[in-house]
Amino acid sequence: MSNLEALSSQQTVELFKQYVIPNYGRYAVNLVRGEGSWIWDAEGNRYLDLFPGWGCNLIGHCPPRVVQAVQKQVETLVHVPNSWHMQQQGEWAKLLSDRSFGGQAFFCNSGAEANEAAIKLARLHHGPQRYKIITFEGGFHGRSLATTTATAQPKYHEGLGPLVAGFLYAPHGDLNAVKELIDDETCAIMIEPVQGEGGVRIPPASYLKGLRELADQHDLLLIFDEVQTGCGRTGKWFGYQYFDVTPDVITLAKSLCGGVAAGAMMTTAEIAPSLRPGMHAATFGGNPIAAAAGIATIETIEEEGLLENVVSLSEFFKSRFEELKTQCQWIREIRTAGMMVGVELDVDGTPVVQKCLERNLLINCTQGNVIRLLPAMNLSMEQAEQGCDVICEVLSALQP
Ligand SMILES: *Cc1c(COP(=O)(O)O)cnc(C)c1O
Repeated sequence: MSNLEALSSQQTVELFKQYVIPNYGRYAVNLVRGEGSWIWDAEGNRYLDLFPGWGCNLIGHCPPRVVQAVQKQVETLVHVPNSWHMQQQGEWAKLLSDRSFGGQAFFCNSGAEANEAAIKLARLHHGPQRYKIITFEGGFHGRSLATTTATAQPKYHEGLGPLVAGFLYAPHGDLNAVKELIDDETCAIMIEPVQGEGGVRIPPASYLKGLRELADQHDLLLIFDEVQTGCGRTGKWFGYQYFDVTPDVITLAKSLCGGVAAGAMMTTAEIAPSLRPGMHAATFGGNPIAAAAGIATIETIEEEGLLENVVSLSEFFKSRFEELKTQCQWIREIRTAGMMVGVELDVDGTPVVQKCLERNLLINCTQGNVIRLLPAMNLSMEQAEQGCDVICEVLSALQP
């Protein structure tokens, strides 16, 4: 930015109108600086961010250890291809392996890419006769063509056909429906332990256990898309530990590197060789900067005791919104899994986001009627209270 003139929010909006493809709905705000759960716009307004980085900034904006690690790395080595070894990538894989079910990592740059890797792995693992993958209504797996197809939400498919063959959709929460979809061409079941974009939908642990049993009976890979639930989000390192159901594959991205772009797929050492040399790659995957940031992210979470923080913060959000629910009949249900908070309304939730923005609070609404928060795990209790006060006032004032 050093030789650029600082633009106002309005000027930046104009710049986008001319030069940036308008495939996102964007607020007319130019964000310029962040620190923890605070973020500032070009006009100097400060916002409390309860949806930092769309889930990527789980340890807040500009986490100091990550900033330092990236600064140091960027001066030493920015990029080398995966035709070489680099210590950082190996160390990072070990840290992730030690905190999950053991096994090995493939690194990439996003959640969609991590899921693409898992899809390819499942097909390669079971050979050409078995290619079908069961996914779940309301799920979200990314925007590449295969992961869009895996995403069982018709609104994301419109106009994109023909989609990738071999995906079958089960209603979320119905084990029998999954059983009926399995045949001798099925190779995997892929599910988010908690549906994020689908509205913070939390299945009972017995359901995920049932999927584990089905996968075992039929020799299927059980893939957990942990792009949103992974890396400490639920108060456990990975969402599967929150439910105590171990999958064969997990995919990670979003908060994996404290806000730096990265993705990963992890699987057991027995399954990993199925992704044999030459069959998959990501040029930037596991690059030294991402690796340095990923290592610093894990260190931050452990040295600052942030997994423990999640438990008390989560209980705070839950109790505040449950209390509000007793006064507002338009609040249907409160759902929390660690730092995933969903408040389902009987009415349209989009005006709530706008009203909170006007009061310098950033939140999200998904599926039209679910107010969603993905707060940072190092949010202070004072910030949590401040944010809840605003949301509760806005929600109480809704006139359905
Ligand atoms: C965000 C998300 C993705 C897609 O991640 P990208 O980095 O945008 O490709 C996939 N799965 C889940 C569960 C997500 O929340």
